[in-house]
Amino acid sequence: MDESLAKTLVHVGFRSAIIRIHTGMTRKQVTSLRKREGIVGPSESGPLPNAESLLAKKEATLEASLFMLAYLITAKAPRSEIDVDAVMAAHSQYYDCHAALRNGQLDLENVLEIDDAWVIARDYRSKEVTMRSCSTCHIEFVVSINRPKHCCPLCEGVQVRDRFHCDFADRSLTHKTPAELIEMSSKVSQWINWGYSVEEIKAEYELTDKEFAACKKLQSFGPAKLQDILNRYASGDRLVKALLSGTRTQTAPLRAR
Ligand SMILES: [Zn+2]
Repeated sequence: MDESLAKTLVHVGFRSAIIRIHTGMTRKQVTSLRKREGIVGPSESGPLPNAESLLAKKEATLEASLFMLAYLITAKAPRSEIDVDAVMAAHSQYYDCHAALRNGQLDLENVLEIDDAWVIARDYRSKEVTMRSCSTCHIEFVVSINRPKHCCPLCEGVQVRDRFHCDFADRSLTHKTPAELIEMSSKVSQWINWGYSVEEIKAEYELTDKEFAACKKLQSFGPAKLQDILNRYASGDRLVKALLSGTRTQTAPLRAR
């Protein structure tokens, strides 16, 4: 039994069940350690929740996402184990961030408690939750895999036409910037002229099918149109989607002035 870890977990305020998992202590040992340390444990009714129920509300998803972003940077192998030290470090960072956004106050209704943070980390390990990236506002957020149609917690309110815009099918098509894509497109056309195959070019520049297709389209534009694209598109992802969508409305911005 790791006595110093046990003391730390007791002081941080974890539920007995979590302390027992990480230290191998019995319920009685946890209770007497709390007494010796003068700590009143949290009220412990019922089993630990699961992440799916914790992430039912948009506000909770946002809070849990802030925690997870810190956890995934800190944890050693979050897909194979619950890194309890990283849970504590990330939760403390998350708490500071949560309070800083509210003039030092806690939003008691929505703040993510340490036990819930641990549950999210546990369910990330068991692949019950995963991270998604919003194609509109580009934040990363945590979702339960049992809810495949989960919306971005930040911008879903403004997505009137397609409230499932963050769905898997609508994920980001590229992380390259418009300038990088344009530069890539001239390299692609050079390599095509040299007689290389599509597969060879894609492998050389690590391009996906969609990025390659977008580069091919960009080749047909002259300098004025390309400048126009740079002025209009802040994100490469939006540019690729516009280039590949083929609908008149969405390609209209690509016409030269
Ligand atoms: Zn969003």
